[in-house]
Amino acid sequence: MAVYKTAQREALLGFLRCNSDKSFTVREIEQGMKNSGSGVTVPGESTLYRLIKELVESGEVRRTVMGNSRTFVYQIVNGSDCGHHLHMKCKVCGKLCHMDEQESREIMEKIRSNDLFEVDSSTILIGKCSVCKD
Ligand SMILES: [Zn+2]
Ligand SMILES: [Zn+2]
Repeated sequence: MAVYKTAQREALLGFLRCNSDKSFTVREIEQGMKNSGSGVTVPGESTLYRLIKELVESGEVRRTVMGNSRTFVYQIVNGSDCGHHLHMKCKVCGKLCHMDEQESREIMEKIRSNDLFEVDSSTILIGKCSVCKD
C-alpha cells in the first residue's frame, strides 16, 4: 500500500521533472501522465490532489493561480542546484528530464565504486523518453 503510493508519487514527480518548464492544472497532469505511458497506474484526480498538496507543502512543487482565473497550476520547483543531479535527454523529442537527486547519487556512487571512473554530475544521459520509446 505504502509502496504503491510512493510509486505514484515518484511517477508524478517524474512527470513534472520532465516538464519543468511548464505548469499544469491537476487535470492536465492526469492527462499528461496517461499519455506518457510510464507503466504506473495514473492516480485518480483526488489522489493526485492529495499528492500534489504534499509536494507543495514539502516545497518540491510550486502552486500558482493561472491568470485571473481561480484555477491553480502546478510546476516543479527547480532549484539552482542542477549541478547536484544527472539529467536525461530524449534524442527524439529533445525533452530534458531532471533526475531525482538520490537516484543520481546512487548511480554515480555505483560507477565510482569500481575505482575506474568518476562521473561528472553535469552528465546528461541520452536516450528515449517514455513517450518516444515505442
Ligand atoms: Zn536539473
Ligand atoms: Zn521524447
